[in-house]
This record gives sequence, C-alpha cells and structure tokens, in this order.
Amino acid sequence: MWQVVGHEAAITLLSRSLERDMLSHAYIFVGPPQVGKMTLALALAQGVNCLASPASRPCGECSQCRRIAQGRHPDVQVVDLEVSASRATLKKEIGIDQVREVQHWAILKPYEGRCRVIVFREAAHLSSDASNALLKLLEEPPESVLFILLTIRVESILPTVLSRCQRVDLNPLSLNTVARELLSTRGIPPQEAMELARLSGGRIGWALEAAGNPQVLIDYTREVGRVASLVEDGLEERFAYAAELATLFPRDREKALGSLKTALSWWRDLLLVKKGGEELVSNVSAREALHRCSQWVSTPQVVEAIKRTQDTMDCLEANVNPSLALEVLMLSLPRRDG
Ligand SMILES: [Zn+2]
Repeated sequence: MWQVVGHEAAITLLSRSLERDMLSHAYIFVGPPQVGKMTLALALAQGVNCLASPASRPCGECSQCRRIAQGRHPDVQVVDLEVSASRATLKKEIGIDQVREVQHWAILKPYEGRCRVIVFREAAHLSSDASNALLKLLEEPPESVLFILLTIRVESILPTVLSRCQRVDLNPLSLNTVARELLSTRGIPPQEAMELARLSGGRIGWALEAAGNPQVLIDYTREVGRVASLVEDGLEERFAYAAELATLFPRDREKALGSLKTALSWWRDLLLVKKGGEELVSNVSAREALHRCSQWVSTPQVVEAIKRTQDTMDCLEANVNPSLALEVLMLSLPRRDG
C-alpha cells in the first residue's frame, strides 16, 4: 500500500514497473514545493526494498518499509542542501564533495535491503561540478542503486542529467482530495479543511503542516497582511520590502519566491473580488483589505499586477539582479496617489 495521498497516475506507473522488475535506474520527480515528491520517493524506496510479495510492495508494514518510513534505513540516503563554506555569499548548493560521497557509497553492496536509494531533495541546487559528477554516475549506474532526483524547477537541471532520468510530474492535488485527507487523518471540520485546502493550492504537504503547526498559518497570514498593506503603502515602504526580499533571495531562494507567490495569490483574490467571485477567495484573512483595494484598483490594473509579479518571478529564476527586478515591480504596482 503506497502511503501517498493522490498522485494516482505516478503510482500506477511506478507500481507497474516495480511489479515487472522494470524500474528505471534514475527518476526525476517534478512538481511544486510540498506537493508530495519526497513522500513518493520514500514510498518508492520502500517498494524496492519491501519484503512482501511483488504485487503488494510497498506493504508499509515489514521491517524494511518501517525503517525507511522512520528515516533509519542504512541503504536510503537523502542528499540535502549544504551551506557553502564561503559565508560571504551564504550560497546554498549541493556541492561536488557531496556527490563524491555518493559515488563512494553507491558502489558498495546494499547493507540490509535489496537496493540502495539515493534521493536528491532539490536537484536544481546541484552545482555545475556536482551535476557533471552525477551525470557520470547516471551514465554508468552502479548495480542495485536507484537515484531519485526531486525538483521544483526542471529547467534548472542539466539537460544531459535530465535525459538520463525518467521524468514523473506531480501536479497539485484537487482541493477536495486535500480537504478529505485533512478531515480523515486530522479530524479537521469540513469547512475549515476546505479553507486550508484552498490556501494550500493543492499542496498536501503544506496543508498537513499547517494543520499540525499553527505557526505556519500565522506566518502565512502575516505575509498576506504584508502584501495587502504594501498595496496601500507609499514607495518608501515598498522599496524597503524590495530590499528585504533582494537580501533574502541569495540566501533562501525558495522563501523569497514564496513571498512573491503569496503576493500573486493575493492579486488573484483581488481579481475574484472585483469579478464577483468572492466565495472562491483563498486568502480569507485578507478579505477586508481586498474589499478596500477593490474600491480604487481597476481590473486592468489588477491584471497588470498579476502579469508583472509573474514576470518578476521569471526574472529572478533567470538570475536577473534581484534588487533591480523587485524595485521595478514595486514601481509598477498600482498606487492610490498616482
Ligand atoms: Zn514492506
């Protein structure tokens, strides 16, 4: 039984290959943050090491499955981001040393399972040296090793690496699926579950985290409040915000882009309010500010703000100077005084 919510197509594909013993030696799971990539990777690691009969793998109950679920299996390794030694840049990446370690480890026989599994949590963070070293491994894969690369940005993966992996796309789950899961596993009442599902945008990991940790929702609500007040604030506050994000970006790309994503969802909500679709608003906590802004921001201005915010995210992904990109965005957003 795959302990994964949703992603039926991916599970069908993987379980068929598992049953026929025809798994690829490398996979890349592509999808937004917290959509379930790591959960699926660990379930696949269980599948290849499970002690049950092939058709029942992963069983989730044998000693192998249990140890993998607990993160205590010696043959399953997760390669994570490392803060680089040079504190001047505070750059986070998966460095060449980490891939060298993987090279040594991958040629060893599995210690207690059938197959070693190496998961790269965010493969887009592989440095170019590390990517090339990984490519060598993928070109001549050691026996009994399964590589699973996870990424939210497939366009940042070296094409030669990509071509050596079987790609599996993981899309956001339906809001009903997320709400049902929150209700059945966390006992969250239906209406509240649906609100969380909407905020999650179908990212089950985020929804479960928010359901279990009130701080997640507090932080998110604060972020939404910040976006709302930014629209009503003057240029000085906007530039301060731009500077803050530009400083954050090289240290924590995901978090900085997450802030812009929140902004994007706020603008989409504003469009809904303007078009009479208020019941579909995700950011319920911002309802008051959305109403206030809908009084003076025109629909074309909202559409333009959505486009500009998206463009800015693209620019940041393409490594345009973050201060410049963010300041241009701040100048382009509608202003009450002008
Ligand atoms: Zn099992």
